[in-house]
Amino acid sequence: MKILISGASVAGPVLAYWLHRYGFEPTVVERTPAARHGLGGHAVDLYGAAAEVTRRMGCWDTIEAARTQLDSMTVERFGRRPVEVDLSRIYAGISSRHVEILRGELTKVLYDAGRGSAEYLFGDSIASLHDDGEGVDVTFDSGLRRRFDLVIGADGLHSNVRRLVFGSEEELHRPLGGYLAVFSMPDVFGLGNHTLAHFSVGKLVGIYGVHQTGQVRAGFLFRGDLTYDHRDTDQQKALLVKEFGDYGWKVPQLLEHLQPAEDFYFDSIAQVTLESWVSGRVGLVGDAGYCPGPAVGGGTSLAVVAAYILAGELAAARSDLPSGLRNYERIIRPLVDSSRRLSPKVMGTVIPSNALTVRLMPGAAATLAKLPTALQRLIWSQNAVGKVFSSTALPDYSDLLQPESGQPVP
Ligand SMILES: Cc1cc2nc3c(=O)[nH]c(=O)nc-3n(C[C@H](O)[C@H](O)[C@H](O)COP(=O)(O)OP(=O)(O)OC[C@H]3O[C@@H](n4cnc5c(N)ncnc54)[C@H](O)[C@@H]3O)c2cc1C
Repeated sequence: MKILISGASVAGPVLAYWLHRYGFEPTVVERTPAARHGLGGHAVDLYGAAAEVTRRMGCWDTIEAARTQLDSMTVERFGRRPVEVDLSRIYAGISSRHVEILRGELTKVLYDAGRGSAEYLFGDSIASLHDDGEGVDVTFDSGLRRRFDLVIGADGLHSNVRRLVFGSEEELHRPLGGYLAVFSMPDVFGLGNHTLAHFSVGKLVGIYGVHQTGQVRAGFLFRGDLTYDHRDTDQQKALLVKEFGDYGWKVPQLLEHLQPAEDFYFDSIAQVTLESWVSGRVGLVGDAGYCPGPAVGGGTSLAVVAAYILAGELAAARSDLPSGLRNYERIIRPLVDSSRRLSPKVMGTVIPSNALTVRLMPGAAATLAKLPTALQRLIWSQNAVGKVFSSTALPDYSDLLQPESGQPVP
């Protein structure tokens, strides 16, 4: 059975890997001209069950070896003493297994894990699709026409498949009232593998080293209600300058590197609010279906776990793929709901809405990091963070693996 996946970042390659292991024929279409490789993109997190998925794929050790090693953070505020936070202890408290890795590196590892087991079409995109109940006819931007048994959108927050089948972005995005900008620049502060953050009401500026590159990522999160064109980078850079031009601290040195930055990223922190991410023979996985909000809801772990479950449920329902899609939706819904509830809370913490949070939060984080891991786990388990990251039970589909896929059963 032939399954088309749109998007080769996180969810796409995980899904393709497992589909192949269950005997499907996956094709992945990705609009970038080639596979991502190396140290591009922002840092993302794999927690608990997501880490276990990559262990079962045989690539956990490679992922761990590529981790960012950003284990410590200094939090600064106007008129207050800096606070040191041991991030490694916080991560250990949230989940027994955690790794932070650049998205570019994660994508490469996931792609390499399944290389040769899926057909990859780079530099192309789905132009139109027609689901006739028995299969899906797809036309690509390149003019290529193919028929598939199923089409899955793994194409992120601004998903193409979602737009073609489920509705427009305006209808299905819920802005959380925050914005996020990131760009790369030289490590002029000598940060190495350290993170520096500055908090104030409604704003957070973070700078973290990108290991072995002499580069840092400068990140800006802020609250607001802006109108902008998501394709107009110059306009977005101007908005950032307007927002942070008189901020002070180290921001003037950061903004000196804004104009030449080629990897500048700017977006609203928005959730995808679809009630169902399945329609006939078309489904969505990862940010495309239920982005909890970039950088605030654990979207990477959710994408990995959901892609694994989607593949398993399709394998279990092999003769009735639409019912496999519906089972996948039913199983991951609680996880999606928890993640959707979590992100406004995380956003409220990392972009403080009031002076009290600015005053108390850094000290609270430093104290939490010093608690015994078992006590931290107990605290996290009481709230949505624990529910999303620590206690996700991963189904076992190993009896569905096809020995002829040529790989050992994990
Ligand atoms: C600045 C920033 C910081 C973040 N920080 C964190 C973090 O700290 N922790 C965390 O867990 N998560 C974080 N995230 C979120 C995380 O990146 C996503 O949740 C995760 O990448 C989702 O994976 P995905 O595969 O679903 O989608 P994506 O990673 O968005 O991948 C979508 C893929 O689809 C491709 N695509 C798009 N359109 C088309 C098309 N028309 N045709 C074909 N292909 C297409 C894209 O090129 C891309 O390869 C952050 C996100 C951002 C933007």
